[in-house]
Amino acid sequence: TRIYVPRDSSALALGADTLAEAIVQEAARRGQSIELVRNGSRGLLWLEPLVEVQTITGRVGYANVEASDVAALFDAGWLSGGVHARSVGPVDDIPYLKRQQRLTFARLGLTDPLSIDDYLAHEGLVGLRAALAMSGEAACEALIESGLRGRGGAAFPAGIKWRTVQQAKAARKYIVCNADEGDSGTFSDRLAMEGDPFGLIEGMIIAGIATGATQGYLYVRSEYPHAIAMLEAAIAKAREAGWLGERVLGSDHAFELAVAKGAGSYVCGEETALLESLEGKRGIVRAKPPVPALAGLFGQPTVINNVITLATVPVIFARGAACYRDFGMGRSRGTLPFQLAGNIKQGGLVELAFGVTLRELMYDFGGGTASGRPARAVQVGGPLGTYLPESQWDIPMDYEAYAAVGAVVGHGGIVVHDDTSDLAELAQYAMHFCALESCGKCTPCRIGSTRGVEVIERIRTGDAAQKQKQVQLLRDLCDTMVAGSLCAMGGMTPYPVLSALDHFPEDFGLRTVQPN
Ligand code: SF4
Repeated sequence: TRIYVPRDSSALALGADTLAEAIVQEAARRGQSIELVRNGSRGLLWLEPLVEVQTITGRVGYANVEASDVAALFDAGWLSGGVHARSVGPVDDIPYLKRQQRLTFARLGLTDPLSIDDYLAHEGLVGLRAALAMSGEAACEALIESGLRGRGGAAFPAGIKWRTVQQAKAARKYIVCNADEGDSGTFSDRLAMEGDPFGLIEGMIIAGIATGATQGYLYVRSEYPHAIAMLEAAIAKAREAGWLGERVLGSDHAFELAVAKGAGSYVCGEETALLESLEGKRGIVRAKPPVPALAGLFGQPTVINNVITLATVPVIFARGAACYRDFGMGRSRGTLPFQLAGNIKQGGLVELAFGVTLRELMYDFGGGTASGRPARAVQVGGPLGTYLPESQWDIPMDYEAYAAVGAVVGHGGIVVHDDTSDLAELAQYAMHFCALESCGKCTPCRIGSTRGVEVIERIRTGDAAQKQKQVQLLRDLCDTMVAGSLCAMGGMTPYPVLSALDHFPEDFGLRTVQPN
């Protein structure tokens, strides 16, 4: 009997290694033959460690399993799907999973992340083989046709970026994967790297073939040691299998890959600071132009895409651009892996087509707050994202619809706060975060963030007259930061600050606030 115990960080943090060992020992003690597979997480993080047993009717799940449960699970006959207090039934039928539209994450949790056989059995390399049969121009056009936009947050059309690199004349071109996932409440990059590294590798190879780049780098944040180890092991296997090297799958294309470890700076998630860091320099934002597609890593044309963007590429080439484009709404095509975090009962990954609402994600999937108290504010798009009040929870998740209310979908991170939250404190923290993480290159961000912390402090503690004066000062400061900052760090910090002020004035001791 095959038993799956996830090896993803969330399961490991909850004792999955000890649990796996306990299962092997208990089976041996009972003389029962099992095959233990260390799969990726299914993304239902509140159920981890989620152990699955392969039965004749499919994979049956047992949630939140501890080593101390193992003997009782054997007693309950779990090897044939026996019922126990930890049972959650057939895993594919869990509504949280069943109602998703998994394209990027189609393999997540189903496979052993380091098994090439598993990968090939689940649509692996179908996209790469299709791309190898196309010209570089045609491959870039196919990506444009799919409507895929950068999933790191900026939402720039990925195919246009690829075409710019493809058309650039240079002796050397690069593919850089931005895996510096630093946004609060986000973990989809990590799940992709730990749960399906071959998918990301395949996406990067396709990017190389399409654009003529022969070297790829994965820039992974140092806080993700398991992802780094997984990628390094997967790259070694891919190289052994002939996917990398002088002749990719026996073709005339060459492509190599290497992992580079970040050093803990949030701003290195900004593409040009990332390139500086990758070149061995201090991670400071570069002024644009030139764009990295023309002068990126070591001054050469460079595709720099987020993990999810690149991990989505194989399914687009495997199933066709039109198939991917059929999902979504407006100019937001395809799916987005939303990440439910913060004060939420059922935290995890929910991949759905654009158009779903925050309310559906929070309640139909998330099950409401973990505290059981009413939800009050939701921050979407990381620490620089807007706080959305309940009146905005029915807006469809779409880049343009969110932009119309001054919000951002970003990397799809959703952090829920209940009615005990203090939005003035959170607004002040946003400025403090900016002060901590600012690279220091431009004045509005470097100085403005520190002044912002002070101004919000005066609003929170001042008398009525002082509050009004300081609110105006805060608005002027935010205007300057938005208009005058070189990158999104300083340019977007006002988003959480002003949304907190506009939608939750009572937390600042104000009855109403006149929006600008
Ligand atoms: Fe650096 Fe902040 Fe200016 Fe960005 S906005 S370049 S992080 S100082």
